[in-house]
Amino acid sequence: MKYEIELNNKNYKKHIHKIKKYIKLCDKNNYMFKVKYSKDLKNEYIDNFKLLEKTINIKNIEKRYSFIYDYVCNYLDKEYIEKNICDFKNDVCIYFRSLKEYDHKNGCCYSDKRGGLCENLDKDHCKITSISCKLYSCPILREKKINYKINNILLLKYFFTIKQKFIIKYSFFKPKSYVMYKLMECNNDKK
Ligand code: SF4
Ligand code: SF4
Repeated sequence: MKYEIELNNKNYKKHIHKIKKYIKLCDKNNYMFKVKYSKDLKNEYIDNFKLLEKTINIKNIEKRYSFIYDYVCNYLDKEYIEKNICDFKNDVCIYFRSLKEYDHKNGCCYSDKRGGLCENLDKDHCKITSISCKLYSCPILREKKINYKINNILLLKYFFTIKQKFIIKYSFFKPKSYVMYKLMECNNDKK
């Protein structure tokens, strides 16, 4: 069985507001979610609904959460690299340069308060994939209006409860396995 909607430029907003309802309905009845796209539909609308369609149709919740986790981490990595957001020069990021701490290397992966270099950093690369670290914006980024809020990221906004969003935002320095466990725990509480 499937649940089908017809999407056009005029009804996009109406459908996006109903997306939580569609997720619930399709999950409860094991329906496939199907979208018919109008020919003149804006590319951004197509991309958003293709992603939502794909995610709703991952029926195993653990696999769905895992897909969302990886998708969002890849998206954030791409944004930070392409836009050179932290703007490292001689290993010192834009934030610590603004504080005139030219010897503070490795950005927020180093902190005196937390005991020095994060144990997850290995040869300038993070060994784990921490979604919370990736979502973090330091004061200078927030000042520049660079702030990847959970409710501005489609998949995080619509597929998780408030409690799950809190876990995603505040599980700093924790690997995917930890976050997945906590998300699934909340999901089991819902049953
Ligand atoms: S988020 Fe801010 S403090 Fe962390 S590395 Fe980027 S610019 Fe530096
Ligand atoms: S867990 Fe966070 S603070 Fe630690 S290395 Fe990875 S990104 Fe940096």
